[in-house]
Amino acid sequence: MYRKIIALITVFIITFSLSACNNKKTNEVNNSEGEKIDVVVSFNPLKEFTEAIGKDKVNVITVIQGGIEPHDFEPKAKDLGNINSGKIFVYNGLEMEPWVDKVLESINNKEVILVDSSKGVNAIKSIQKEEGEDEQHGDYDPHIWLSLKEAKVQSNNIKEALIKADASNKDYYNKNYEEFLEELDNLYNEYKNKFDKVSNKKFVTGHAAFSYLCRDFNLEQNSIEGVYSEGEPSAKKLRELVDYAKKNEVKTIFAEENASPQVSNTLAREVGAKVEKIYSLEIKEDNKDYIQSMRDNLEKIYISLK
Ligand SMILES: [Zn+2]
Repeated sequence: MYRKIIALITVFIITFSLSACNNKKTNEVNNSEGEKIDVVVSFNPLKEFTEAIGKDKVNVITVIQGGIEPHDFEPKAKDLGNINSGKIFVYNGLEMEPWVDKVLESINNKEVILVDSSKGVNAIKSIQKEEGEDEQHGDYDPHIWLSLKEAKVQSNNIKEALIKADASNKDYYNKNYEEFLEELDNLYNEYKNKFDKVSNKKFVTGHAAFSYLCRDFNLEQNSIEGVYSEGEPSAKKLRELVDYAKKNEVKTIFAEENASPQVSNTLAREVGAKVEKIYSLEIKEDNKDYIQSMRDNLEKIYISLK
């Protein structure tokens, strides 16, 4: 309790001092041409979308940095300070960030433009929660950014916020957005064609992050860990996966950086499959952008099904 009070006081002090700086900064931005817009985003995919549309006119600050499991994150006073002094704050929504309500309540800079990137997406209900799974998560699967279709909706929400913050560059944001959409559509069409031609639609991965990608391409995922990356699976779950992989002649077990790679290795050995890396994009990896990572994912899944 004592520690909580101290933490709360620290948060208040930082919030107040930062909001004082912030007023000055906002005026500076308005007064000088060519100043970048500070956009704070909760995690990597939102940085990708914001940079694709804002390009050299935005300075993106990512709250959840590499090396942290995004599903277990708690913000620090520093993060709150960043959000409070930014022009725009973008979060994924669908309770990918269970901490966001508290943060929104505590920021006292009412000029920050808040963006729930999931506004308007066609959300998928989460499969029933498994035993021991975190109760703080919501009813919908939050991994919308792994759908090339829903990425368009998220990008549109971000574009609208950029225009609201910086109306004089409206044409620039619209143009970049249209170009990004074309890239998303091209990638979608290319792989829609490919996946339509394969009869095997089932793949196995480490973390159940791909239900939206599966919906886009009519595929089916099975996974070692659940939707919230909750750790090592039970012996029973592992046996089920072995049976599933054998029955469906799964030749590749995918593994994400944040999930349990050892379990992927064990499973692969058990069923005579190989292990391939897949990107959940929750953190930036191998210096690849959104389109490159998604292309990589789709190509690897396609090869494994062919
Ligand atoms: Zn995830």
